[in-house]
Order: sequence, then structure tokens, then C-alpha cells
Amino acid sequence: MIDAEKGYPAPSVNADSKPFWEAARNNRLVYKRCVSCGQPHFPPRYLCPACWSDGLEWVESKGQAVVYSYTIMRRAPLPVFAKRVPYVVALVDLDEGPRMMANVVGDDALNIKVGDRVRVCFEDRGDGFKVPQFSRIA
Ligand SMILES: [Zn+2]
Repeated sequence: MIDAEKGYPAPSVNADSKPFWEAARNNRLVYKRCVSCGQPHFPPRYLCPACWSDGLEWVESKGQAVVYSYTIMRRAPLPVFAKRVPYVVALVDLDEGPRMMANVVGDDALNIKVGDRVRVCFEDRGDGFKVPQFSRIA
């Protein structure tokens, strides 16, 4: 777990994403899967993006993924992020299929490469939210 830090923008929660943030608060990473066609997706939606069914279920991810792409942020987009630069923003493909955007954190994060294996960790923002992030698997 990452130490609580304050002052970051809070996630924007709506009816579709509320179960995702509640699961993250309990150190669980979840995504939605279509009961009709089996398509997993992220971010959570009301309808399946493949077949438009509203028959969706929440599934818990094992939390392992592969880095699809990344960038290293060297200038803070907001003053609160200044203490973090340089840091990694990555697109990661969960083993179960969905693609997520998250930070890759940890001492060796800046050595990131496309194709690296990563696992989820949960950053406690100290405001009631935990944000799923990823760290490299050695
Ligand atoms: Zn579907």
C-alpha cells in the first residue's frame, strides 16, 4: 500500500463507477463483464460496448497486467503533483482483458518498458478514496 497523501483531485464518482471505487477502498480491483456476450470492459458503463446489453456483472480482477504503453510525466499538470515528478502514466492490459490507465509506482517505475508485467496496488489518498495503481513485477 502507498502512504496516504492529501490534496490530489478526488475521483469523479457516478452510479456506474461507484462499485469500482467501493471495491478499491477494500483493496479489490473490479471491472464489468457482459453476461450476454462475455465482453469485459473498463471503465464501467451502463451498457455493454460490444452488444449494448444491459446485462452486466462485476468481476474481480487478479490484479496482474501488461504495460501496453506509457509516458513519463516530467512537468506537473497541477501544483499538487509537483512532488511526484517524474512519474509514470501507463495504459495496462489486465490479464482478464480490460485496458486501464494508471500510474506505475515504485522505486523502479522509471525503468518501465512496454510489455512489462505489473500488479495492482492501492494508493490511499487519505480522503476516503484508494486509487488503483500498478507496480512492476521483478
Ligand atoms: Zn455484450
